Amino acid sequence: MSESKTENLQEFNYQAEMKQLLHLIVHSLYTHPEVFLRELISNSADALSKIRFQQITDKELLDVDAELKIQIEIDKDKQMFSIEDSGLGMTKDELIKNIGTVAKSGTLEFLSALKSQKQSLDGNLIGQFGVGFYSVFMVTDEVTIETRHAAKDSKGYRWKSKGESSFTIEEIDKPTRGTKIYFKLKDDHKDFAEEWQVQSIIKKYSNFVDFPIYLGKEQINSVQALWQKPKNEQKEDELNEFYKFVSNDYQEPLDHLAISLEGRVTFKALLFIPKSAPMGLMRMQEEKSLHLYVNKVMIQDDCKELLPEYLRFVKGVVDTEDLPLNVSREVAQSSPVMTKINQVLTSKVLGWLEDLAKTDKGKFETFYKEYGPLFKQGVNMDFTNRDKLMNLLRFETTKTETGEIISLKEYVERMKDDQKEIYYISGEDRKQLERNPNLEYFKKNDLEVLLLHEPVDVFIVPSLGEYEKKAFKSIDKAELDIKDEKVEGGQEKLSENLSKSLLEVFKDTLKDNVEDVVESKRLVSSPVTLVAGKDAMDPQMERIMQMMNKEHAKSKKILEVNLSHPLIKNLSTLNMASSTDPKLRSCILQLFEGAMLLDGMLESPTDYVSRMNELMLEATK
Ligand code: ADP
Repeated sequence: MSESKTENLQEFNYQAEMKQLLHLIVHSLYTHPEVFLRELISNSADALSKIRFQQITDKELLDVDAELKIQIEIDKDKQMFSIEDSGLGMTKDELIKNIGTVAKSGTLEFLSALKSQKQSLDGNLIGQFGVGFYSVFMVTDEVTIETRHAAKDSKGYRWKSKGESSFTIEEIDKPTRGTKIYFKLKDDHKDFAEEWQVQSIIKKYSNFVDFPIYLGKEQINSVQALWQKPKNEQKEDELNEFYKFVSNDYQEPLDHLAISLEGRVTFKALLFIPKSAPMGLMRMQEEKSLHLYVNKVMIQDDCKELLPEYLRFVKGVVDTEDLPLNVSREVAQSSPVMTKINQVLTSKVLGWLEDLAKTDKGKFETFYKEYGPLFKQGVNMDFTNRDKLMNLLRFETTKTETGEIISLKEYVERMKDDQKEIYYISGEDRKQLERNPNLEYFKKNDLEVLLLHEPVDVFIVPSLGEYEKKAFKSIDKAELDIKDEKVEGGQEKLSENLSKSLLEVFKDTLKDNVEDVVESKRLVSSPVTLVAGKDAMDPQMERIMQMMNKEHAKSKKILEVNLSHPLIKNLSTLNMASSTDPKLRSCILQLFEGAMLLDGMLESPTDYVSRMNELMLEATK
C-alpha cells in the first residue's frame, strides 16, 4: 500500500448495536451458512434493478452499455470467493450508512430473544432483518468491498472489515461502476469454493433472479418469469422455489394463486400466503409484500398500493402492461391503473380465500389463525367487500371445542327457531369467558354464543350491525330480551315484597358504584352479575379504551341479582331482621366486588380480601 493510500485510509467504528449484532452473527449463526450467497446475490440484483430503472430516463450514467449481470469467481486452492455486479454501486456516504448500521429497529432485540430460546440461530433468518450482507461473516473472517456509484463523476472506494469493531474505507481507482465483494473462506467453509456447491446454492436460492448469474463463463440461473408461464406449466417445486425467492421465507407457502387477466386491466400475478405470519404482523410496516413489474421489469419491490392494508400478508409478484416502464413510485401510487389492479386483485384474493374455506378447511383455518387479527379488520376498512369479508369471519362459540371456529352462516343455520339475534360475549380468553355468569341462561337454554377473545373482535363485531337480518347482541348488555320463565329445576324465587326491599338495601349499600340494581333473569347458579347499561360500551371495548387512555371515564354497571339463589334468600332473611345489619351490608359489598373481580374490573383487591377475612372469622366462630 502506497504512502498516499495510507493517508487516504480512514477507520470507522461500528455503532454499539451493530457490534452486538456482529457478535451474534459470528458466534451464533451456525445453520445454513450458504445463505450468505443468497444475500449477496440479492443485494447485487437490487443494485441491478435500480440501475436498470434509472437508465430508462437517465443516459448520463457511467457504463450505460454494460451488461446487467452478476459475476461470481471462485479459486479452490486459495479458498477465495468473489461476486461482482454492474449495478448502481455506492457512494462513500452510502458505504458508511448502508453497510454498517442496523436499519430496522428492534432487530437486535429480536435476534437476542431468539438466541436465548435456542442454542444456535438459523442463518436463514438473517435476510428478513435487513442485515443480510453480514451473513458473509459466517464463512469468512475478513471482507473487502470495492464499489463505484453509477454517477459519472463518482469515485471508487474500498471498504474492508473483520466484522469486529471497525471498518476502513479508502479511495481507489475503479474504472467501472458497480460493486465487487471478495473474501477468503474460513477453512471449515472452503467448500463454498467448489463449483458444484456454488451452482447448487444458486439454483436453490437464486434461480429466479432476473439478471444472469455467471459462475466463470457459465450462466447458472434460468432468468425466467414464472408468472408469465401458463398455469398448467407452473410446476409445484418451481412455485415453492419461486415463493422462497420472493418472500425470503424458508418454509413452503400455505397456498398460491396464479392470475392472468386481460380486459379492463391486463396483468399477470403469482400470489402466495406464507404458512406463518411474521413476528409482529400487526405492527410490521416494512414487511415486503408484493413486487410490481411492468413488462417483466421490476419497478418496485414492495408495492403497498396493490392490495389493501388488511391483505398485506400476501406475497408475490404482479406484472402489468398497463403502466409505463418509467413510472415513478409517486405516479404509480396515484395512477388509476393501480386503483383498478387493486380492486381486481382484492376481489381475486377474497375469492381465493372463499375457495380455500370450501375446499381445504385445514388450510383456511391455518390462514385464519395466522392472519385473522389483521384480516378481520377488513370489515371496518373495505365497505365494498364487506359482505364477502363477513362470510369469511370465523369465531369460537360456546358450542365449539377450543380452537374450533365456525362462520356466521353456520351460526345462523344452527340458531333456534325463535332466536332473533346473534349473541356474543367478549373478554380476554376463552376460559375467562366460559366462567362468566352471564352465560348461565344461554347454557341452560341451549343458545349458542360467539366467544370473542381477540382484542380486535370488539372493534369489529359491534360495528357489523347485522348478518342475514339478525342483529349482533352482546349478552353483557342489560336489555336482553330474555323470557321470564322459571328455570327448570331452579329454586323458588323470593316474593315480590321481599325482593323489592332487598334490592333497595343493595342500592343503598352500593350507592354510586352502580347504575342500578335489578332482578336477574339470566342467572342460574350465580347470585349476582354485572351487565352494561343499555347505551353503555361493550365491557371488553371499555377495558381496551382504558388501557389506551387512563383518563377514559368508566361507565357504571347494572348489578343483576338472582332472586332464587340460596345466598340471596339468606340475605333477605337478614334484611327482614334488620336492614342495617353490618353483615348484610358486608355481604352485598362482597358480592359486588366479586362480580367486578370476575369482570377484571376490580382495581384494588385490598378491601375485598379484608372483608372476606372478617366474614370467614364470623363463619368459623
Ligand atoms: P438489505 O439488503 O436488507 O438492505 P444488507 O445488509 O444486505 O441489507 O445491505 C445493506 C445495504 O447496503 C443495501 O440496502 C444496499 O443499500 C447496500 N448494498 C449492499 N450490497 C450492495 C451492492 N452489491 N450494490 C449496491 N448496494 C449494496
